[in-house]
Amino acid sequence: MTTPSPAPRDLVYLDHAATAPLCARAEAALRRGLRLVGNPSSRHGAGLAAHEALVGARDEVARLLGCAPDEVVFTGGGSEAINLALHGTFAALGFRGHLVTTAIEHSAVLECADALSRRGVAVTVVGPAPTGHVDPAAVAAAIRPDTVLVSVMHANNETGAVQPVEEITALAHAAGALMHVDAVQTAGKLPVDGLAADLVSISAHKFGGPKGVGALRVADRHTLAPLVRGGGQEAGRRAGTENVAGVLGMAGAAAWAAEQPRNDLGRAAVRRLRKRLLDGLAVLGGVVPNATGPVMPETVSVSFSGVRGDTLADLLDAQGICVSTGSACHAGQDSPSHVLTAMGVPVAQAKATIRYSFGKDTAVADIDAAVAATVAAVRSLRRVSGTEVSDAG
Ligand code: PLP
Repeated sequence: MTTPSPAPRDLVYLDHAATAPLCARAEAALRRGLRLVGNPSSRHGAGLAAHEALVGARDEVARLLGCAPDEVVFTGGGSEAINLALHGTFAALGFRGHLVTTAIEHSAVLECADALSRRGVAVTVVGPAPTGHVDPAAVAAAIRPDTVLVSVMHANNETGAVQPVEEITALAHAAGALMHVDAVQTAGKLPVDGLAADLVSISAHKFGGPKGVGALRVADRHTLAPLVRGGGQEAGRRAGTENVAGVLGMAGAAAWAAEQPRNDLGRAAVRRLRKRLLDGLAVLGGVVPNATGPVMPETVSVSFSGVRGDTLADLLDAQGICVSTGSACHAGQDSPSHVLTAMGVPVAQAKATIRYSFGKDTAVADIDAAVAATVAAVRSLRRVSGTEVSDAG
């Protein structure tokens, strides 16, 4: 007999950092976009209607990014935006110069940096402090006279650690280098419109939009070579007929996000959810949060000593509770997370890690269900493995 899998409405979905649920505004905009029959480059009325819809969407995404609409390049998601930023910058320079980035970046940055180094770009990778944060002084020390670009994420996708990107941008600019911020985890949650970076990457599906669509803010002073050549779309920076429905969906999510309070008071709901989750888990002994200090409240990375994170995640999944062990891109790999490893987290603790991530609309009952199931699963896994960890208190 097979166990019936729960209907989606019965799922407790705590994996927003991997992908957030589509918001109603984005869904309506997507549907509207799907009905637009014309190619935005066509001169007839149908083409014009699609073009006008794109113009409106570009304005909305530009508002989110705090830039001029012509600085927005629509892409096929966050990874493409990042590749365009990094590869595009160095390709325009004949793959010369120096890139500074950090060991906790998403693989889209790290793999791209690796590919650039094989083409002749010098790359320095700065490690984080044990708290999960990159020290601006360490970035400053890595910058050289030939540094072209510094690339640092706004918040880490595994630990939620918020990086001092404003300070790092000022340092990069003072040294004559450009700055790229991977804001995939923060756009729509923290303000990204005040970032002074030359290049900012975002991805719609992390803030209530559809998957496979994103944007790169390219400051108008910056020249980059396209990754995709062809028609002159996106002012020659990304060829190909635009994903009209996807872009409209992203703009719908951006409009929704703009209505959400992003100040401390407005973010009190996610802070309360975080506290409830951590307080609930604290009845177990041996629960260690992996990042301390400035952190996205909606991303909670904790390790449970004596337990394998992947086994625990599977047990929770069997009860309809969706969490992850780290980055969704590396799910199923046995190696410990590169982020936790770079922070100096011991291998056993890294492999005992679970990431819960949620949104401000997550129900308290979902947090409580995740706590109850985690506490029961951790106790039973520890019993089976004979791990001696007493409950806290
Ligand atoms: N950067 C960060 C910090 C991410 O969390 C992700 C997705 O997990 C990406 C980049 C890649 O975004 P996408 O999935 O849209 O390609």
